[in-house]
Amino acid sequence: MKTPLNYQMSEKEDVTMPGLSRRTADFTDSVIRRMTRVSNRYGAVNLSQGFPDFDPPRAILDRLAEVALEDFHQYSVTWGAQNFREALAEKQSKLMGRTIDPNGEIVVTCGSTEAMMAAMMSLVDPGDKVAVFSPFYENYGADAILSGAEPVYVPLAPPDFGFDPEVLEDAFRQGAKALILCNPSNPCGKVFTREELSIIASLAEKYDAWVVTDEVYEHIVYAPWEHVYFASLPGMWERTVSCSSLSKTYSITGWRLGYTIAPPEATDRIKKVHDFLTVGAAAPLQEAAVTGLRFGPEYYADLLAKYTAKRDLFLRGLDDLNIPHTVPQGAYYVLLDISEFGFDSDLAFCEALARDVGVGAVPGSSFFREPVNHLIRLHFAKKDETLCAALDRLADLRKKIPARGGRRS
Ligand code: GLN
Repeated sequence: MKTPLNYQMSEKEDVTMPGLSRRTADFTDSVIRRMTRVSNRYGAVNLSQGFPDFDPPRAILDRLAEVALEDFHQYSVTWGAQNFREALAEKQSKLMGRTIDPNGEIVVTCGSTEAMMAAMMSLVDPGDKVAVFSPFYENYGADAILSGAEPVYVPLAPPDFGFDPEVLEDAFRQGAKALILCNPSNPCGKVFTREELSIIASLAEKYDAWVVTDEVYEHIVYAPWEHVYFASLPGMWERTVSCSSLSKTYSITGWRLGYTIAPPEATDRIKKVHDFLTVGAAAPLQEAAVTGLRFGPEYYADLLAKYTAKRDLFLRGLDDLNIPHTVPQGAYYVLLDISEFGFDSDLAFCEALARDVGVGAVPGSSFFREPVNHLIRLHFAKKDETLCAALDRLADLRKKIPARGGRRS
């Protein structure tokens, strides 16, 4: 319906709009989420944006149904419902090897996305530098812009995505006040070893910097790799904000339940930032999710077994099709090497892949600071039948997307 306001505007020929913020002028939309829309447009099997197509655990859903008729429909405490924080503190205390105070060391947020944003706003001022490993999850770039921080990128070099400690030290030497550490890493599937984390820890200490972790894949780490919580390293609790979420662990990405775990002084600040950003995460969903937080260790073992089987199925399928790819140590992403197709733009390749082959992927360039154009990201958090359907379609890849410029090897 036409409102009086836009009626007036359309009548006026030379209408000018007040300027928008300079801070956000260079924002693109999220390429990850755009590729979901592209996939939907072409009816592609969507392996772009990482979310499952299988159900969350039944016990959580049953509890959600009960909660609908209970008294959880108004705001919870802004930094998270007591029940939720207590269950989370109990779970993470065991994993992180220290007693986490549910009242003073946890903030429940709207997804880890908000956790990271609230952490950045709490730790850095406009003009401060923040070190970011590249490739990186695309939100970190936007987080830096929104908080006014200047990112300093530290490459993780394929094929093992190791980093050069000298280059990392240089980022700290330039004054990086914080480092963003995604472990296990999205998109490259790297799991940082204890030795690597110790190098990071000693640099953080030497340069008196914060480390903000993104550990949303903490339960999806394939043997023989193991997840080491950065905050659990000697001396690191005091300089770490651990961000994570329930999205991947309980297959509830749409619930937007995340959190920070941090020392009391930092938590106190994050509480305030979070309160003004969003007031709080959805109260009924927090209550229902407590059921998941109270699951025993067998739940996490089953989850890992399920993802290990999916990883094996999908990678075997790619091997059978002779498509070169990374082997993730953690998380549920795989990078495919598309060099043989000779595309100048990995975005154009992903569009052709969705349209002509019927598989949705994310162009690698949206994760790399370096001019990388030969990788695309697919994820395997899907039912086996969905993964098999994608592999069936990929079998026609070379027929449907001919190599350009005769570069096929
Ligand atoms: N973490 C998922 C990905 O990288 C989903 C991101 C999102 O859309 N919040 O695809």
